[in-house]
Amino acid sequence: MAEKILVIGAGQMGAGIAQTAIVSGFTVYLTDALVSQRERGQQGIETRLSRLMDKGKITAEEKNHALDQLIVIDSLRGVSQVDLVIEAVVEQESVKRELFRDADQWFGAETIFASNTSSIAVTRLASATHRPERFIGMHFMNPVPVMTLVEVIRGALTSPETVAEVLSIARAMGKTPVESEDYPGFIANRILMPMINEAIFALQEGVGTKEGIDTVMRLGMNHPMGPLTLADFIGLDTCLYIMEVLYQGFGDSKYRPAPLLRKMVDAGLLGRKSGRGFYSYS
Ligand code: NAD
Repeated sequence: MAEKILVIGAGQMGAGIAQTAIVSGFTVYLTDALVSQRERGQQGIETRLSRLMDKGKITAEEKNHALDQLIVIDSLRGVSQVDLVIEAVVEQESVKRELFRDADQWFGAETIFASNTSSIAVTRLASATHRPERFIGMHFMNPVPVMTLVEVIRGALTSPETVAEVLSIARAMGKTPVESEDYPGFIANRILMPMINEAIFALQEGVGTKEGIDTVMRLGMNHPMGPLTLADFIGLDTCLYIMEVLYQGFGDSKYRPAPLLRKMVDAGLLGRKSGRGFYSYS
């Protein structure tokens, strides 16, 4: 059974994955290209564990034990051997490919590589390495410590042993894995993202206000949050990248990203993480 995990990318997802893994007893190495993000990621984990302790959900001993399992490193050269690498960097294929190409040189052939990509073809990412049979998609949901689903995406060459190991690691992290084949957007974002994109088209066309659109979906469809609030939560840049993957992957105009989404990303209005998206978060 896997014991050591390297998480690359300490943004909202990477930090959440690292937190979940240390609480579940794994030793986690966490890295990010930016020192500010490494610090932010680590601080976020400490703050959230303290809050869980204050609420009586974990003991002080459990919190300290979990934090002892977290090792923040400057680069992947700070660790020589791990069982699993989970990549959670920006949703851009070229960035992910370069990172995997580099990691492929560094880690032994047994190490499993998993991408937390929301939509990029796992088979294509795997082709940047010499280990396509040890390569898989492990798509966690945001916020990772709270959401119990993990989509497990089998690339064209992923071995059954790798799938079995990753399913068992996901369960050991307290998650419920669901397997998906490797098609654009997998299951979750193939269904979710066109809905969010359509909500943005509706806003752009003035069908309703942002509050109106969100309220209709909350009260009318019983969604816990409206699509525009959810887009802010996910990050508008991530939403745009995913729509572009769906659009290119299926070649169907129904997946074209809403121009308003593109405009907001161009303006740096990325949602919660940048302080402003459809709503303000100061
Ligand atoms: P984020 O912007 O919060 O974090 C991305 C991090 O990657 C940043 O800290 C950045 O500094 C770092 N980074 C970029 N290039 C790097 C490199 N070459 N090496 C090391 N670090 C690098 O983004 P996020 O929301 O955490 O998303 C990360 C991944 O998770 C994306 O693939 C995204 O599609 C996926 N994802 C996101 C969500 C969501 O709701 N936000 C849900 C599921 C999956």
